[in-house]
Amino acid sequence: MTADIIIIGGGVIGSSIAFNLLQDGFKGRIVVMERDSSYQFASSALAMGGIRQQFMSAINIRMVQYSLNVIEQLHDCQFRQRGYLFLANESNWSRLQRRYEIQKSLDAECAWLSVTEIRELVPELHCDDLRGGLFGPKDGYVDPRATLRAFRGKAEQLGATYVSGEVRKLEPGSIYVIAAGAYSGAVAKALGIEVPITPVRQQLFRCELPRPWTYEFPVVIDPGGVHWRSSANNEIVIAKTNPDEPPGFRFGCDLESFHNDVLPALVNRLPEFRDLKLVFGWGGLYEMTPDHNGIIDRISDRLYIAAGFSGHGLMMSAATGKLTSELIQTGHFQTLDASVLSLGRFARGELINDEAML
Ligand SMILES: Cc1cc2nc3c(=O)[nH]c(=O)nc-3n(C[C@H](O)[C@H](O)[C@H](O)COP(=O)(O)OP(=O)(O)OC[C@H]3O[C@@H](n4cnc5c(N)ncnc54)[C@H](O)[C@@H]3O)c2cc1C
Repeated sequence: MTADIIIIGGGVIGSSIAFNLLQDGFKGRIVVMERDSSYQFASSALAMGGIRQQFMSAINIRMVQYSLNVIEQLHDCQFRQRGYLFLANESNWSRLQRRYEIQKSLDAECAWLSVTEIRELVPELHCDDLRGGLFGPKDGYVDPRATLRAFRGKAEQLGATYVSGEVRKLEPGSIYVIAAGAYSGAVAKALGIEVPITPVRQQLFRCELPRPWTYEFPVVIDPGGVHWRSSANNEIVIAKTNPDEPPGFRFGCDLESFHNDVLPALVNRLPEFRDLKLVFGWGGLYEMTPDHNGIIDRISDRLYIAAGFSGHGLMMSAATGKLTSELIQTGHFQTLDASVLSLGRFARGELINDEAML
C-alpha cells in the first residue's frame, strides 16, 4: 500500500480527518484503511447521535461549537436541533446550577428553565420532584450512520481512497493516523506504543411510543441517568449508562437490565412510557481514556492519533478532523488550541477535569 497518509479506521473520525486534510489543500494520496466496511462494530454506526455544547471545559465546548456549525450545513446528517434538557431535582440541583454558571462563563449556549418551562417542552413529564432544568437550545441529535456516510462521502468526493484491510504495522514512506475508535489502544499496542484507550460497552434501546406523539423530544436526561431522544417512525432511542460495566470488547444488549433498571426509571419520569414497545436493543463501544477526554496528538514524525473521545466523539468529529489536519500539515493547531488533548498528559498526571464528560 503506497500513500502519503494512511488513516487507520474509516469511522466518523478517520473520515473527517481525510475530508479535512483534502479540504485544507493536502495534495498527496490519502488512504483510509478500514477493516470492516459494514461498520457493524464501529461506534460511529452504533451511537445515540447526541450533540451538545454543554460541557464544563473550554476545549470541549469549542470542539462542539465548531462541529455544530459544520453539521448544521451537512444536511445529510439529519440534524434535529431539539435541544438537550438536563432535569434537576434535589439530588443534582446544586451540581447542575454550578454547571450552568461554568457553562455560561465559557460561552456555551444554555438556559436555566423553570418547571413551567420544562412542562412546555415536554408536557407529559412527571415533574413533582423537579426544581428546574438546564437546557441547551442549539443542541440536538443526528442520525449517526447518516453522519458517518456524510463524512465518508465528502472524503471520497475530494479524493480519499478507502481500502479494506487491517493495519498491523507501519510501512516505510507513509504518515499514519490512528483513528480506530475503541480499537485504538489495541492498534497502538500492536505498533509498540502504550495508549490508554479501553473499550467499554454502552447499551441503547429503540422503542415504539404507545401512541402517535405530536412533537419530537429534545434529548431528555433524568437526574437518575436514563435519557432518551426521538427517532424516526414514532420511536425513541434510550440509554442509561451502567457505571459498573466492565471494560472489554462486548456487544449486544442485556434485556434484563432494560426491564429491571431502564424501563422503571423511564416510567417514573414519564408514566405513559409504561406501554413502550421494545423494538431493538444493541451495544456499542465507548473509547474510554482515564479522564474521558479525547486525544489529538503527534506521537512521532510518522504517527499521529485522534481517538479516545469516550462516548462523545461523534459530536466532536468535525473539529477533530480539522485539528488533526492542521497538526499534520502545519505542525500546530490553528482553529483552536487543543494542546490539552495531548497523549502525554496521562504520564504527566495533567488530566482534564470536565465532569460533564461523565
Ligand atoms: C452506544 C453508543 C452511544 C454513543 N452516543 C454518542 C452520542 O450521543 N454522541 C457522541 O458524540 N458520541 C456518541 N458515542 C461515541 C461515538 O460513537 C464515538 O466517539 C465515535 O463514533 C468514534 O468514532 P471513530 O471513528 O473514532 O470510531 P469507530 O466508529 O469505532 O471507527 C473506528 C474504525 O476503525 C476500524 N479499525 C479498527 N482497527 C483497525 C485496524 N487495525 N485497521 C483498519 N481499521 C481498523 C474499525 O473497524 C472501525 O470501523 C456513542 C458510542 C456508543 C457506542
